[in-house]
Amino acid sequence: MASHDVGIGDFVLLDEITVERVVDNLKTRFNGGKVYTYIGEVCVSVNPYKTTNIYDVDHINKYKGRELFENPPHIFAIADAVHKEMKQQGRDTCIVISGESGSGKTEASKIIMKYIAAVTNLSGQQEIERVKNVLIQSNSILEAFGNAKTNRNDNSSRFGKYMDINFDFKGDPIGGHVTNYLLEKSRVVYQQKGERNFHCFYQLLNGCSEAELNKLRLVRDPAAYYFIDNGRNNKTASSDRNDYKTVCSAMFTLGFSANETHTIWNIIAGILHLGNITFRLDDDKLIIGNNSALNDTANLFSINSKDLNTALSQRVIAAGGEVMQKTHTLIEAEYGRDALAKAIYERLFTWIVSLVNGSINVNNSDDMKRYGTLIGVLDIYGFEIFDVNSFEQFCINYCNEKLQQLFIELVLKQEQEEYHKEGIEWQNIEYFNNQIICDLVEQAHKGMIAIMDEACLNVGKVTDEMLLDAMDKKLVDHKHYSSRQLKPIDKELQHRTQFKIKHYAGDVIYNISGFLDKNKDTLFQDFKRLLYQSKNPVISKMWPEGAQNILKTTKRPLTAGTLFRNSMIALVKNLASKEPFYVRCIKPNEVKSPVVFDDERVNHQVRYLGLVENILVRRAGFVYRQRYDRFLKRYKMISQYTWPNFRGERDMDGVRTLMNEKHFSDDVKYGHTKIFIRSPQTLFALEKMRNDL
Ligand code: ATP
Ligand code: MG
Repeated sequence: MASHDVGIGDFVLLDEITVERVVDNLKTRFNGGKVYTYIGEVCVSVNPYKTTNIYDVDHINKYKGRELFENPPHIFAIADAVHKEMKQQGRDTCIVISGESGSGKTEASKIIMKYIAAVTNLSGQQEIERVKNVLIQSNSILEAFGNAKTNRNDNSSRFGKYMDINFDFKGDPIGGHVTNYLLEKSRVVYQQKGERNFHCFYQLLNGCSEAELNKLRLVRDPAAYYFIDNGRNNKTASSDRNDYKTVCSAMFTLGFSANETHTIWNIIAGILHLGNITFRLDDDKLIIGNNSALNDTANLFSINSKDLNTALSQRVIAAGGEVMQKTHTLIEAEYGRDALAKAIYERLFTWIVSLVNGSINVNNSDDMKRYGTLIGVLDIYGFEIFDVNSFEQFCINYCNEKLQQLFIELVLKQEQEEYHKEGIEWQNIEYFNNQIICDLVEQAHKGMIAIMDEACLNVGKVTDEMLLDAMDKKLVDHKHYSSRQLKPIDKELQHRTQFKIKHYAGDVIYNISGFLDKNKDTLFQDFKRLLYQSKNPVISKMWPEGAQNILKTTKRPLTAGTLFRNSMIALVKNLASKEPFYVRCIKPNEVKSPVVFDDERVNHQVRYLGLVENILVRRAGFVYRQRYDRFLKRYKMISQYTWPNFRGERDMDGVRTLMNEKHFSDDVKYGHTKIFIRSPQTLFALEKMRNDL
């Protein structure tokens, strides 16, 4: 490790491995302006909450093509290692970035992509430049529509993102593919106090020209719109205006047609108007209170405003082969309006992702099969606890459980395999295995998602409270589940509607209200037919099922919970099939400050991320391991047997001779391909000899 480093750059070199020492070292490094620290090849990143120059061209050049140990810890070194592994070994690799909300995952994923873009395409091929541009610029589009200010993070990802980047045999990016996971669409119609709707709404209101604004029949003041005013934090950020320009120019770069871009903003404006539609009852008749909002919405969605009126106030039901109209109650009408807004937004988002994919699809799939390798970058919503936690938090936190499980499996398994492979004795390390919590959520028949699905089968008859009863009954003995009704009563739970899950990252109290509905995730068929009839072909295409005959019975669609579980299982399987690298992000404080290091909060994160166990496993008695050839490359100059060139047959023999000569032999073990060193002193001594030459 370079001598000017602050604290210790690789945790395996700590003299004492305890949570306190790990936190201390992180604190020393945070205060000294060091963002990154290693555990072997795992990169621990502490959000600096300030801009620094550590991502400039000089730094890129310093890390380009170098080995991890040659430079101070940096996420560039990990990105380089990932790229090198993929290029040299021809293996698909992936980078799993985890940590709680606001810890720096999305920033990390962008830094990695920028680095990869900077070190590739040395021959300057036009098509590769285009792909790189698309990969980078797609971020601003996806963040505009998928990120929002929450009480934990001003730019919080409200969707999960997994991006595959395809490389050719030279290691240059030739395409990519984004997979998105469950968008938190409830945000479109409601935000908790202090939070905002998705960025795009404010970007449009602030950034578009007067002429556009008039065309969309909007005013600039966000307070005029119910859907973005209910968070009572409708302030637009100073960046919204510029971000609008950035997003529009990114859409242009990605090749979105004028009509496509136009449709996107029309839909966003339409949703704002839709939110202003109110209902009242007049002699039991449902009346729409705000006709201009109705007309504006209909215009922007290119649908007939009378039809929209009808679809908002009644629904068509098919019973016994006959079709009937049923007028909505006030509550049903408001529910329908909100469901429509959420559904349109979700379809829009999925469609935008498909446009992004369309512009970076790998064209030549044959070439791809022959030479192609992938780097996958996973940046997903982090573990979060709000004042009120609902179905979305339940899914998000379950997703984080799955990633933690993957980390446990792979890191421990890999290490175990390595010792075994190298013929080195292995010593077991105890750790908390969160499989039990994953099972609690996802197990067939007995898990929470299965219980919810069962409740959803009984349309109309089951309430959220009844669902909670069912969970209480089935999960009464589960160590990680508690509820007000169970004995012993969980005193923390104040209301009949709450339950608690003991997650790996902390206890979360969820409110059952809305769970059934969000899991069922249905939209009245009337809306689907209406949007299918839109004169705007882009909108119409988003609603293919609207073409269906009302009398035709359809198969019950999978619930949101089951779809999410299936997508998580597929994601984990995909990640596990690649060579994984990890970035573990830590949030230093709750106040977004570059100078506050909250010992207690960091201590908690270090514990639940299992960093101490990770270090112990990594060391398992050895602080350092290295392939013989690389070891020689670094230290051959300290022995005349190996300098300037080792002439023996096997690198291993060179390493042995060198270590014998320096009297280090008692402190090392020789594996089949690697040397394992027990104490940090040996490594320091080697480094000193090298530096003193
Ligand atoms: P979520 O789970 O809510 O999406 P996240 O882990 O993706 O959270 P980010 O959005 O990446 O968190 O980071 C939150 C904020 O912290 C950023 O907007 C930025 O201001 C700051 N930040 C994060 N990483 C860095 C960094 N490496 N350098 C400077 N600032 C950073
Ligand atoms: Mg994020």
